[in-house]
Amino acid sequence: DLKKRFVLGGGILGLGTTQEVDAVSGVSFTIAAGETLALVGESGCGKSTVGRCILRLETPTDGQVVLDGERIDDLSPETFRKLRKRIQVVFQDPFSSLNPRRKIRDILAEPLRNFGLVRTRAECDRKVAELLQIVGLSEDVAHRWPHEFSGGQRQRIGIARALASDPDLIVCDEAVSALDVSVKAQIVNLLKDIQKKTGTAFLFISHDLAIVENISHRVAVMYLGKLAEIAPREAILRRPRHPYTRALMSAVPIPDPAMRRTEPLLKGDVPSPIAPPSGCRFHTRCPFVEERCRTEVPELRPVAAGHLAACHLNDLADGENPLLSAPPV
Ligand code: SF4
Ligand code: MG
Repeated sequence: DLKKRFVLGGGILGLGTTQEVDAVSGVSFTIAAGETLALVGESGCGKSTVGRCILRLETPTDGQVVLDGERIDDLSPETFRKLRKRIQVVFQDPFSSLNPRRKIRDILAEPLRNFGLVRTRAECDRKVAELLQIVGLSEDVAHRWPHEFSGGQRQRIGIARALASDPDLIVCDEAVSALDVSVKAQIVNLLKDIQKKTGTAFLFISHDLAIVENISHRVAVMYLGKLAEIAPREAILRRPRHPYTRALMSAVPIPDPAMRRTEPLLKGDVPSPIAPPSGCRFHTRCPFVEERCRTEVPELRPVAAGHLAACHLNDLADGENPLLSAPPV
């Protein structure tokens, strides 16, 4: 039930008043060991804020973050430091996430030393070489500078840094979004290989559904700070139970014309999170909107095994639910 409220100060508005924005309004999910959960939604839906709360880069306003049964969001900084190595991050921009004044060896040695994982220089060098090998780079890369590498190579280095402490969970926030199409595929394959070998779980935050289709086991869809739907990947793709998910999926380009989806693209902009729509937050853009959608908030409820959705249409009998009778997206 994670919540995060930001207060926008009077300085920003220049009026001496403040405004509150609920970036995350009660989001719940779990991630299993070795699993990739994709967190998707349009820009500003709160998905990065969820990731930042898990990483403790933001303090939740309410709710909990739990790792292996232990609540971690309210630990003291000293206690949390011991757990830090278990949750790592790969950011979007491979050009700003590596310190340009440090050689690759030092960038990778830093977490190894900080977390007390190596004792001698030789041990450190061995471990750095091992990390570079895991991400498909040669050992001599260690003695070079970040500016000598392409975006894809830098992202490999960023992944190696995240792997240094053998984490249980890596939050990948738009980790491949800035890369060229062919490089994206390479990095996604690398992440999948790493997961097979290490059992690391990924929270894969992305707006790129073609990539999400490729990498995820389960998908959680966020809209204006809330979960619209969460389900195994196949169910999300074949039988989405929320109109927003259907619209998002229909916007994914499909190369084969015979397979092209018929659903219209998502219309209109996301409403301001400062004053989200009443009732169902999606009602201003929903092609299925009914009267009660404007006043009644749909709860996130089970609709099938491991599949939850927050839409009133799922109260209807299966034969009357347009989400089920319409051809699969
Ligand atoms: Fe659309 Fe109503 Fe379902 Fe919201 S609850 S997604 S407005 S049909
Ligand atoms: Mg973001």
